[in-house]
Amino acid sequence: MKNVAIVLAAGRGSRMHSDVAKQYLLIKGKPVIWYSLSEFERCPFIDEIVLVTGTDEIEYCRAEIVEKYGFRKVKRIVAGGKERYHSVRQGILAAGECDYLYIHDGARPFVSQEILGRARDAVCADRACVVGMPVKDTIKLSDDDGFCAETPDRSHLWQIQTPQVFSAELIRRAYEDLMEAVDKGTALQVTDDAMVVEAMTNVKVRLVSGDYSNIKITTPEDLKLAELFAEEVGRS
Ligand code: C5P
Repeated sequence: MKNVAIVLAAGRGSRMHSDVAKQYLLIKGKPVIWYSLSEFERCPFIDEIVLVTGTDEIEYCRAEIVEKYGFRKVKRIVAGGKERYHSVRQGILAAGECDYLYIHDGARPFVSQEILGRARDAVCADRACVVGMPVKDTIKLSDDDGFCAETPDRSHLWQIQTPQVFSAELIRRAYEDLMEAVDKGTALQVTDDAMVVEAMTNVKVRLVSGDYSNIKITTPEDLKLAELFAEEVGRS
């Protein structure tokens, strides 16, 4: 069985208000992307890693991240695209023949061996799973005028994280169909990979427990939290 991780590190992330893309900012002296790469590197059932980055950052990633820190499982570094789903598509194309694809946001440093193990068990049973956690806050849907329109039952609401893990054949087919829909102008707004599978196939996606510390670095305060988490898990 061959498992490939696709680690996404393209895009700029304007909400960080920084000249450096958030995935290359430092947490305890190491780039954000180092943390998830090292977790996939030491995971015994991950065979290879495809790193997806900006066109101008391929050389930097090769020299300053992959070679410098000795990530031997990173077999390919490829350029992503304008939207996250374009980058995922490039990662899927670069992954080659394999059984399962673990798609992960490089901006989420604190994926752990426990999360990866739970995701592996779920994907082997159900072909498709996403990591997430029950929401803590009440979530409201708003109307177009900024008033509360609906309050969904919180016991069924999850905040979705990555990795999102799929049988390679399933996610390939789902992304082929998505790209066709994009060409025809009929695609939805895509914010994660599970929704591509939900929209394009009839396979149900299993929800798997992640961790509240599996945060995505998005805004400056996330970096402060990340410094604390890095210290706690002894990961720097
Ligand atoms: O921008 P956002 O927070 O949704 O990004 C989530 C992840 O997707 C990040 O790790 C980012 O590097 C990646 N991404 C990408 N290509 C894009 C946009 C985002 O690889 N065009």
